[in-house]
Amino acid sequence: MEVFMKTIGKRMVSLVVLAALGTTLVGYAALSKTDLSVHSETRPQPAYMAPPERFGDPPADAIILKASEWRSDKGGGPAKWKVVKDENGLEYIEAVKKAGGIHTAQQFGNCQLHIEWRTPAVVKDRGQGRGNSGVFFMGRYELQVLDSYENPTYADGQAASIYSQVPPLKNVCRKPGEWQSYDVCFLRPIFDKSGKVVRKGRITVFHNGVAVHNNYEIQGLTQHKRVAAYPRGGHGDKGPLSLQDHGNPIAYRNIWIRELPEEIPSNQPYIKKPGEK
Ligand code: MG
Repeated sequence: MEVFMKTIGKRMVSLVVLAALGTTLVGYAALSKTDLSVHSETRPQPAYMAPPERFGDPPADAIILKASEWRSDKGGGPAKWKVVKDENGLEYIEAVKKAGGIHTAQQFGNCQLHIEWRTPAVVKDRGQGRGNSGVFFMGRYELQVLDSYENPTYADGQAASIYSQVPPLKNVCRKPGEWQSYDVCFLRPIFDKSGKVVRKGRITVFHNGVAVHNNYEIQGLTQHKRVAAYPRGGHGDKGPLSLQDHGNPIAYRNIWIRELPEEIPSNQPYIKKPGEK
């Protein structure tokens, strides 16, 4: 009994010491009550979520961006793109020339996106004129959509480029008229109070399942013929997802998005906070 009590006593002391350390060693106040030591049994478990049946299907917590979720860049009313049902009854949307781009009513910061797109089967024009559109994160940072199957253009403007900044690692474009996919993780930029960027945005992209950007650090706005820079004064923590109307009838389907946390509960900072050493 005495030995037992001694053991309990030692354990109690250890627990008190651990608790005290826990409040001082962990950098983030929000995480200070959590035991993050290696293999800790008190570390919170991730919530269970049944996985999607097939790759590309929306997970249970995804926001599905159906046609009705999109607004017109011209005036903000309902999107003026075509809504079509395919031979299987699945809905897709198609850009209409001069209808303008479209954006989601809901705004997003850090996110995972799945989106499928198709350039016209009948090839017209060349270079940037062939199957041009784009997926804009926070309404500002363009992941280019283009028919880049045997269609040379400037490398930082081809399909899956971060427009005006960096080409994809490979050109894995399918033939015109075939459905293709992007799977993306996007980390938003952070600005200080004066609007200066203190953490640049980041993007990881899989094109047709192939990694074409691995945590690329976005250098600023993705504008035509302009060196990338973040806007003076910065911008908000969230923005809409936008799709570009570049005058070509690009189709999109199976679009879903998941909001991602700023930090994961880790004993390492996910990415250091501004000013953190
Ligand atoms: Mg574009």
